[in-house]
Amino acid sequence: MIDALSKAAFGTLAGSTTLKRLASRYGMRGDGGFARRFVAGEHIDEAIAAARSVEAQGLSQTLDLLGESVASEVEASAATNAYLEMIPRIAEAAIGRNISIKLTQLGLDQSPDIAGRHLGTILARAHDEAFFVRVDMENSPYVEDTLTLVEAAWHEGLTNVGVVLQSALKRSESDLDRVLALGMRVRLVKGAYKEPASLAWQSKADVDAAYVRMLERLLAQGRFPAIATHDPAMIAETCRIAGTSGLAASAFEFQMLYGVRRDLQAALMRDGFGVRVYIPYGREWFPYFMRRLGERPANVGFVLKSLVRD
Ligand code: FAD
Repeated sequence: MIDALSKAAFGTLAGSTTLKRLASRYGMRGDGGFARRFVAGEHIDEAIAAARSVEAQGLSQTLDLLGESVASEVEASAATNAYLEMIPRIAEAAIGRNISIKLTQLGLDQSPDIAGRHLGTILARAHDEAFFVRVDMENSPYVEDTLTLVEAAWHEGLTNVGVVLQSALKRSESDLDRVLALGMRVRLVKGAYKEPASLAWQSKADVDAAYVRMLERLLAQGRFPAIATHDPAMIAETCRIAGTSGLAASAFEFQMLYGVRRDLQAALMRDGFGVRVYIPYGREWFPYFMRRLGERPANVGFVLKSLVRD
């Protein structure tokens, strides 16, 4: 039955406040909390410790303060301030200066103006401290506003920003034209959200085929593209294209999620590729965690085992 639960089912469960309340009691408890495999902790100190451990293995990292779909402008300002506090903590810790953010965390549901103002504030501070900021891509209703806001920041000279494109969305191949024309850095992903057939490829074969088409263009024309996937077939395709076109391994990087395919992260690094690990932390870990379960229902077994151990 567990295997039958899909991305869509986990997406629905992610909205359940009862489940969220139950999960928050156990998910981050001590070292055995079941969410700790995918989330570094609830506090910046834990995220920095995870980043140090990742860097000690020769990998690089990006830190994400979890949070999305805030309910008010006050919450969006609080999230913005939390990012502004995070920047000097990372600088003091002398770990890599790379962060990831979501625009619904900065007030995109309240208005694009609010999110744009908050994004500009974070990017300006990040720019002064030589940070790179990746704006994650959320589900389809937010794609156009996300691209527009990131492009606006870029045109204001805040070029320390990069965007994410999802191969599952049918529009992404033309969005790639837009961002390639600017010279903006792109993280290529398959897409974590359940989307309607009118907007998104539904089969793995179609999502993968679009991924490869976008990959070919990014490796040929993109600026330091991030190939974010755990799929060995997509990784092999990247290595094949790079090999046949004589592209140096230093011209792009692979990215993977904290706690996912650590064996593959290490193997790619040993083969001379750059690998960046996306390290999420913070109290708002529940929706992120549910998306990870939805991607691989076998992860549910891992959660159940850790609960039984308790
Ligand atoms: P899949 O075909 O889903 O998986 C391939 C194989 O990878 C699986 O067979 C399994 O072995 C392994 N695997 C994949 N997921 C898991 C998991 N959760 N647990 C254990 N094993 C797993 N999505 C967005 O929509 N917006 C973003 O901004 C975004 N940012 C991302 C940043 C990074 C660094 C990464 C790695 C992913 C990001 N994603 C984002 C998620 C992405 O869209 C996919 O949902 C996710 O990466 C799974 O797709 P896949 O390419 O790994 O391939």
